[in-house]
Amino acid sequence: MARIISVISGKGGVGKTTCVLNLATSLTTKFNKRVAIVDCNITSSHLGLQLGLYGVPSTLNNVLRKETKIEQALYNYLPNLQVLPASLNLNDLEKVDIKNLNQLLGKSFDNYDYVLLDVAAGFGKEAISAMLASDEVLFVTTPDIPSVTDIVKGKDLAEKLKLKSLGIVLNRVRNKKFELKQSEIAHLTGLPILETIPEDEKVLESLSLKTPMVSYRPNSKVSQSYIRIASSLTGQFYQQPKMNIFNRVKSIFNR
Ligand code: ADP
Ligand code: MG
Repeated sequence: MARIISVISGKGGVGKTTCVLNLATSLTTKFNKRVAIVDCNITSSHLGLQLGLYGVPSTLNNVLRKETKIEQALYNYLPNLQVLPASLNLNDLEKVDIKNLNQLLGKSFDNYDYVLLDVAAGFGKEAISAMLASDEVLFVTTPDIPSVTDIVKGKDLAEKLKLKSLGIVLNRVRNKKFELKQSEIAHLTGLPILETIPEDEKVLESLSLKTPMVSYRPNSKVSQSYIRIASSLTGQFYQQPKMNIFNRVKSIFNR
């Protein structure tokens, strides 16, 4: 049975899609897990785009309309990482009922270890349908008051839906005075901070290359954070690469 985890935030642009891609890549490349990622953000889908997957013959929209079997809309990104993209075409929303997601996902991923859901921002029908299709919730936020306030709402919603809250991925941290501190965020939300991920221009570079950061810059702080989250999810130990002098110099130039 797969663990189905929805990756959520109230505010958009905080790093959910980036988190889904990098966590999934870490789970499969470092911990040998079979993973599927699903773009549940049907009104503003980006997951496939971030991997260079567009113009595909079948999408989640076709599956939700019961025109296509789910297997036909799953695309290989890595040998053990499949992607279920949503359509980029707004007209393709016709007759798509996102509420069918729960029923659809529940029985389709028995052979997988993890299914990560890239959820729409906010707590509307799209987000709630994805949350209902999952068992566990991972929150992503940036260190500012609006995003963190939304996490509090998300946590309450997860509790109402009887989902297990895994904790917070605190993203795009610049260590500026005006940012909320990790301890303040933990206190305000009552959730553990799983990792603090720094702001890093290379993430934008990796996006332009349609390659997840953990493949593009595996030794960066950002990538090591995602690998540690994967390690704690699986309960499997991960030994961070030892930095000899050669690797240290190399990492400075590769930063
Ligand atoms: P969401 O899915 O929550 O809307 P995205 O994952 O699309 O957010 O991220 C929003 C933008 O922030 C993207 O351009 C992404 O490349 C960038 N980004 C995400 N994480 C980082 C980071 N740690 N440092 C710099 N840019 C980041
Ligand atoms: Mg997104």
